[in-house]
Amino acid sequence: MFVLLGCLANPVQGDESLSGAFPRTFKQGDVVVLTLPHRGGESVAPDGFIGRFRGRETPAFPVEGGVSLLLGVDMEEPPGTDELVVEHRGSEGTRVVARVPLTVVAGDFGVQTLSLPEKQVDLDAETLQRVEGEQRTMLTAMQTVTPRAWEGTFVLPSEGQIQKTFGLRRVINGQPRRPHTGEDISAPSGAPVLAINHGTVRLVADHFFSGKSVVIDHGLGLYSMYFHLSAVTVHVGDRVGKTQVIGAVGASGRVSGPHLHWGIRLNGARVNPLSLTAAVSSAARRESLP
Ligand SMILES: [Zn+2]
Repeated sequence: MFVLLGCLANPVQGDESLSGAFPRTFKQGDVVVLTLPHRGGESVAPDGFIGRFRGRETPAFPVEGGVSLLLGVDMEEPPGTDELVVEHRGSEGTRVVARVPLTVVAGDFGVQTLSLPEKQVDLDAETLQRVEGEQRTMLTAMQTVTPRAWEGTFVLPSEGQIQKTFGLRRVINGQPRRPHTGEDISAPSGAPVLAINHGTVRLVADHFFSGKSVVIDHGLGLYSMYFHLSAVTVHVGDRVGKTQVIGAVGASGRVSGPHLHWGIRLNGARVNPLSLTAAVSSAARRESLP
């Protein structure tokens, strides 16, 4: 989605000065591309622009004629309306350049009910401890905000059938479980898995649930995750290019068959990978994102 906030040369302090023609309602799990145009000749330090929505911060980056930012609406963000505040932080202090009310609505992700043998569902104490440690490792790998590495549009990480499983709420043996945080792509074991954009490999691991896993840092708080791989061909610290092969589809971890689980975290928000690709593609068409 593309949102025009207003002109930096005429800082927007209220809703009235906005055109009103852009969408302001977003679903849980959406990625929103926000662009603030500014007049030519004005000196803008894009590093100093930060968007803030419900305590989550996202840095802006320069585009032709202004600055843009990617806002991630977490999959469990409570529905309701709150202000997006865009600030410029400089040596003279913090200046608010735009305030826009944004409304979050329910994602309507659907529910999947499963019956499984208890043995497969209940984890013993040792495994539970392992899983909790692995969750901490995963989160720690995605905490740093580094300079922007991603460029242009994002590619799909694998050929195959997209399962539309993002956000699916699973109820196993009558008990609600965590929602599904990524998108599954069904593909045969051994099919290549590609980096969706430029970045640096931050994690290569073999975890209980996600199996052989890779996490790539694309900069500005954007991370992509690739789970259940049969092979990994990159190492932590490697710089990878868009479409570079990083591994192969598999069935490692807790899965019923070979597929790629693809996840995206954007400044801490768990977002729909397909919303990221769609939002950036449509912004790139209109805005020529570099
Ligand atoms: Zn999955």
